Amino acid sequence: MNETIPRLVLNLIGPGTISVFGLGFVGAWLIDRKRVYLLALATACLMFGTGMVVQVFHLPPDFAINALVSNLCYTIAVLMVSHGLLRRSGGALAPWFAAVTLALTSGLIAYFCYVDRDVQARIYVQNFGFGAILLLTAIQLRSLVHGRLIDRVLFWTLLVFSVQFFPRTLLTAASMRQGADPAGFGQSMFWQALQLSLAVLGAALALTMLIAALTDVIEDMRHERDIDELTGVRNRRGFEQLAERLLSRTGASAPSLIIADIDHFKQINDGYGHALGDAVLHRFGTMLATSVRGSDVVFRIGGEEFAILLPEEDGKAGELIARLQNNIAQTDFALPDSAQTITASFGVAVALPGESRQSWYARADKALYAAKHQGRDRAIFAGPAAALT
Ligand code: GH3
Ligand code: MG
Ligand code: MG
Repeated sequence: MNETIPRLVLNLIGPGTISVFGLGFVGAWLIDRKRVYLLALATACLMFGTGMVVQVFHLPPDFAINALVSNLCYTIAVLMVSHGLLRRSGGALAPWFAAVTLALTSGLIAYFCYVDRDVQARIYVQNFGFGAILLLTAIQLRSLVHGRLIDRVLFWTLLVFSVQFFPRTLLTAASMRQGADPAGFGQSMFWQALQLSLAVLGAALALTMLIAALTDVIEDMRHERDIDELTGVRNRRGFEQLAERLLSRTGASAPSLIIADIDHFKQINDGYGHALGDAVLHRFGTMLATSVRGSDVVFRIGGEEFAILLPEEDGKAGELIARLQNNIAQTDFALPDSAQTITASFGVAVALPGESRQSWYARADKALYAAKHQGRDRAIFAGPAAALT
């Protein structure tokens, strides 16, 4: 009993940890059900945990059946890791590859159990097989190296995890050759340590995959919260946030705000219907987003009213508006009457030192109003005199 309980605990650490990660993936999927790849990763963790339980607790006790069942669990787990990670990046595991892998490893394991009883060959088949599948997956996902931090960490963890199968297997085989009793090998501390190291590395991979998955889910939610569905540019909430952030910077140059409002938009709606109005808004928003520089950010802040924030005071607002007016004229808004044109009016304000967002916006809006009043299709720059407090 003094030996059994610590060993039992030791044996349960691996399967327990990996199963908790499996439940973590199920939880992430419950938050964001369209990310089906989370279920593949959950299955991978649960199958891996099951494989470990089957192996270390000798369930079922028949050694050959046990080897076949645990191999099946591990192979499904590895294929599911591969499939899940490929799906996450827009790919998928080919079904024929999964079928061939399952048939091949099962066949070879059966052969080395029933025909030629060779535990070493079984270890080679499994571990080199798993290493190869994961290495191929890592190679397919190599573009993650250029991704976000979590994507890079995920790539390297996967690569290390896949490569470790090779030295680990050779080490096991070498130690077995040195005359260790094959029957007692499964109970040796060396084997236990290897099992534990695999569990620790597996947990590191599972943890990285879980963090990557949660990052995806959070980014999705943030995207939905800050993006205007119709035009694909950011919404008013995003505008207010960035405007506040730009105004609160210390020591940075003053940012500029451009408000763009489509002229006589009501006539488009009234003349051609709301759906065509929506299509015009979509094209207008897309045109703005593709016209600005990388540092400038476009928002839809009202019905047919857009805002552009230019973080740096570099006198480029006028240049940008000239480009926008040109691009508006060039854009095909697909209006039924091809003689009808779309124009917009612009109000511009450079933030004053210590100015509030409301005052900054009010000055730009007042300038826009002046542009409308003076005949539309033009830009007016706000002076500091109009500043509110
Ligand atoms: P002005 O030149 O003075 O800006 O005139 P305007 O007609 O563009 O301005 P007004 O504010 O009178 O009308 C804006 C119209 O935009 C009224 C509203 O029905 C329409 N609108 C607001 N949101 C949407 C939308 O999401 N889709 C569509 N199709 N129309 C919208
Ligand atoms: Mg308008
Ligand atoms: Mg308007």
